[in-house]
Amino acid sequence: MTKPFLKFLLLFTFSFMTVKTFAQNAANIHFEVSFTEPQAHYADVKMEITNLKKDEIIVKMPVWAPGSYLVREFSKNIESFDVSAKDNSSISFEKVKKNAWKINTKGKNSITVSYRVYAFEISVRTSFVDASHAFLSPTGIFMFVDGGIADASMVTIIPYKTWSKVSTGLAPIAGGKAFTYYAKNFDWLFDSPIEVGNQDVFEFNAAGVRHEVAMVGGGNYDKEKLKVDMAKLVEKESAIFGENPNKHYVFIVHNYQSGSGGLEHQNSTVLGAKRMGYDDPKTYKSFMGLVAHEYFHLWNVKRLRPIALGPFDYDIENYTTNLWIAEGFTAYYDNLIVSRAGLDNPEGLLGMIEADINAIYNSQGNKVQPLSEASFDAWIKYYRPNENSGNTTVSYYNKGSLIAVMLDLAIIHHSKGAQSLDDAMRFAYNEYYKKKGRGYTDAEMKAVFEKYSGENLDQFYNDYINGTKQLDMNKYMNYAGLELVDQTRTLDQPYLGVVIESGNKIKNVSRGSSAWNDGLNVNDEILAINGERVNDVLESVSEAKVNEKLNFMISRDGIIQNIEVTIKAAPNKSWKIRQMDRPNQQQKAVLEKWLSL
Ligand SMILES: [Zn+2]
Repeated sequence: MTKPFLKFLLLFTFSFMTVKTFAQNAANIHFEVSFTEPQAHYADVKMEITNLKKDEIIVKMPVWAPGSYLVREFSKNIESFDVSAKDNSSISFEKVKKNAWKINTKGKNSITVSYRVYAFEISVRTSFVDASHAFLSPTGIFMFVDGGIADASMVTIIPYKTWSKVSTGLAPIAGGKAFTYYAKNFDWLFDSPIEVGNQDVFEFNAAGVRHEVAMVGGGNYDKEKLKVDMAKLVEKESAIFGENPNKHYVFIVHNYQSGSGGLEHQNSTVLGAKRMGYDDPKTYKSFMGLVAHEYFHLWNVKRLRPIALGPFDYDIENYTTNLWIAEGFTAYYDNLIVSRAGLDNPEGLLGMIEADINAIYNSQGNKVQPLSEASFDAWIKYYRPNENSGNTTVSYYNKGSLIAVMLDLAIIHHSKGAQSLDDAMRFAYNEYYKKKGRGYTDAEMKAVFEKYSGENLDQFYNDYINGTKQLDMNKYMNYAGLELVDQTRTLDQPYLGVVIESGNKIKNVSRGSSAWNDGLNVNDEILAINGERVNDVLESVSEAKVNEKLNFMISRDGIIQNIEVTIKAAPNKSWKIRQMDRPNQQQKAVLEKWLSL
């Protein structure tokens, strides 16, 4: 929000009905969210629309939540949709699409749309209500007037009687009704999750920004330690971009038995954490990585963004080939920042990179799906995995992160340690978000990487972004005096190529494996091998010799069959990053710059 606007609003009115500060021709919208039956997981929403200029409007609910690339059909949770007028005259409406209602406003100046939202999906991008708290993921709670994304709105939250707090990045309207907030437009509203309940709230200041942390669900966290460590991450990330665009930022942390994941917003984030995991160093480090990841997004993807990702179309999929930058680079930086902040050591960082290298080098999906396509098809593949996904998809997180490693090292090498990927990211942020006020195109980001690495990246893009050639990590690792060593101990490990779930059922079959070639299928129940009843399938196979033929007795859809499988050797290799024996001065300098040694 803009400060002058708020002052104006406060001076002239405390009541929505007389607000004159909204755009002249736009409808004025005031939401009220209450909870009459939180134990049954309902939020009750009233949407008062005034200053209506048309005889007919369409109200809609988004089908997806930006940052999570899946059509989630939030309107599936709507019930008791109704429309009323102040004078109680009837207002006719008709549902015209899965997520849209056409309302005949009959020249009325004001109507109220009301509906209930069933909210029982606990995740960072869906809503959840129970007797203890409510988490409102805004794209699944608030409707918008078709064509009115630019409209401002107000939101009043009426907490359930036993709740006392609201945490959100939305700006409160001081002096107005309690828990009333302002959203400058619907993009902003949809980007502002709201936590309502009795959360434990604490604050810290870093990079000139007031940070609020709302801890939901309890846990064994140490507030003082979190304040110090989270501030370090904030400072290190703000330094990369040269500024922190917020004045106020909110972390909503959902602590669950085994919580994880996060979703980014412009001035807030929602994180899932393991309630009793804060005193475990490994879990704590990964939580710090999550904090660093989502916070980095306030620049990378929320502001410096692919051109397709904002302004958003809330009705359909929004396609981009650049999630490897939006997510992969963020995944790279989260580990890097945790290391820069002193919350991990450089060996830990290299270990993470090594894990990504092993995952990608051994990935079957990496051989068939280019990175740009993994991004484009996130909606139908990454977010909708099936039993064959490992064979057909590559993660734009892991592989995008390795692309960031390659480009970072290329830039440090080229600039002789003067610059790094930080400089390219800061340049792009200034150029596209601040100066041009829009997202970047694929070609523009490529040009940025070329400018900073001093390399023509045509072949790089052909091979690694738009093609499926194996990444040459060694070339870039060598810039830093590091090398990738194949540490595979033996090449004669018998390998079936399946993942087994309970009941000896096959869950996945790996492309090109013995099971794949000879026709073992997902869902086959393995009963016996070579006539002997089998308890542990993989253990039995491990006792075979490479090229030995094993007879599998299986049950497929209830019919017993025998399938002969020739056991091949395990194809996966084990790669290790290690320092070269005699790195030269330049290599040492690149390593020092890269790892901030
Ligand atoms: Zn992310």
